[in-house]
Amino acid sequence: MIPAPFDYHAPETLADAIALLRRHGDDAKVLSGGQSLLPLLKLRMGWAGQLIDIGRIAGLDYIREENGFLKIGGRTRESALERSDLIRQRYPILHDTAVVIADPLVRNRATVGGNLAHADPANDHPATMLALRAEVVAIGGRGMRVIPIDQFFTGLFTTALAGDEILIEIRVPTPPAGSGGAYVKLERKVGDFATAAAAAQVTLAADGTVERVGIGLTAAGPTPIRASAAETFLAGKAPDAEVIAEAARLAGEAAMPSPDRRGSVEYKRNMARVLTGRALNRALERAGG
Ligand SMILES: Cc1cc2nc3c(=O)[nH]c(=O)nc-3n(C[C@H](O)[C@H](O)[C@H](O)COP(=O)(O)OP(=O)(O)OC[C@H]3O[C@@H](n4cnc5c(N)ncnc54)[C@H](O)[C@@H]3O)c2cc1C
Repeated sequence: MIPAPFDYHAPETLADAIALLRRHGDDAKVLSGGQSLLPLLKLRMGWAGQLIDIGRIAGLDYIREENGFLKIGGRTRESALERSDLIRQRYPILHDTAVVIADPLVRNRATVGGNLAHADPANDHPATMLALRAEVVAIGGRGMRVIPIDQFFTGLFTTALAGDEILIEIRVPTPPAGSGGAYVKLERKVGDFATAAAAAQVTLAADGTVERVGIGLTAAGPTPIRASAAETFLAGKAPDAEVIAEAARLAGEAAMPSPDRRGSVEYKRNMARVLTGRALNRALERAGG
C-alpha cells in the first residue's frame, strides 16, 4: 500500500495555501488529518500530485462560543471535541458524534473540517451538522463565504467547496433554552463506519410542543440526508410516543441506502427508523421534555 508519488507542501499561512491550490489546480488536494485522504492515496482509489498540508497554519484549531454561534475551527481534531467540557455540557450531540468516530488513534489526527469536506455519506459529522443547521465557512481565491450545511453536500464525496477553497470554520447556532440533541449510531463493531445512524436536535416551546427540530441521517444515500418530512410532521406537536413513532417512520422512508455487507436496503431503512426514534427520545430527554 504505497501511494503514487506526490509533492508535499506545508504552507504557514492561509494565503500561501490558497496560492498553492490555485497554482496546482486539479492536481492539488488539501491534507488535514490525513485519515481519509492518505488511505485513499495508498489504496490508489484517489490521486493527487500535490498535497497542501494545512497543519502548520495557525488559528484553525479552536472551539468557542461567540456571537450566537458555537465556532469550531476547521482543523480542530475529533479528540479535542471529545475532551471539551463546553461540547459535553452544551452540545452533547457533538460529543455523541465525536466519540463514535473510528478509534482514539484516528480521532487524535482526524479533523472536523476533514470529516465534512470528505463528504462520505457514511461519515458521522455530516448528519449531526444537518440536525444542528450548521454553516461552513470557506476561504479561497475569491475571499470568504458562508455555506449553509444544506447546500454543502452536493453528491457522493462532493461538496460545494471550490478547488482553491479551504474549510476554515464550522458554525453551529447556539441552541436556545429547552434544547437537546443526540446522535445514535449502529455499527458492526466499535470503530466501524455506520450501518445506519441518526442525529436529532430539538427545541421545546414553553408548552412542551416542538418548536424546532433537525434530523439528519448517516449512510442513508449518496449524501447525508435531512429527514424533512419527519421534521415538518413534528413541528408544533406534543412529542408523545405515537408522534415520535410516526416521525421515525417518516425518517425511515426518507432513507435511500445502498445494500452492502452491512445490510440490505430494507434492514438499513428499518434501522434508520429505529435509530431516529432513539435519537429523538434522547434529544427530548436532554431538552428537558
Ligand atoms: C480506521 C478508520 C476508521 C474510520 N472510521 C470513521 C467513522 O467511524 N466515522 C467517520 O465519520 N469517519 C471515519 N473515518 C474517516 C475519517 O476519520 C474522517 O473522514 C476524517 O475525519 C477525515 O478528516 P481528516 O482531517 O483526516 O481529513 P483528510 O483525510 O486530511 O482529508 C479528507 C478530504 O477532505 C479534504 N479536506 C480536509 N480538510 C479540509 C479543509 N479544511 N478544507 C478543504 N478540504 C479539506 C481533503 O482534501 C480530502 O479530500 C475513519 C478513518 C479511518 C482511517
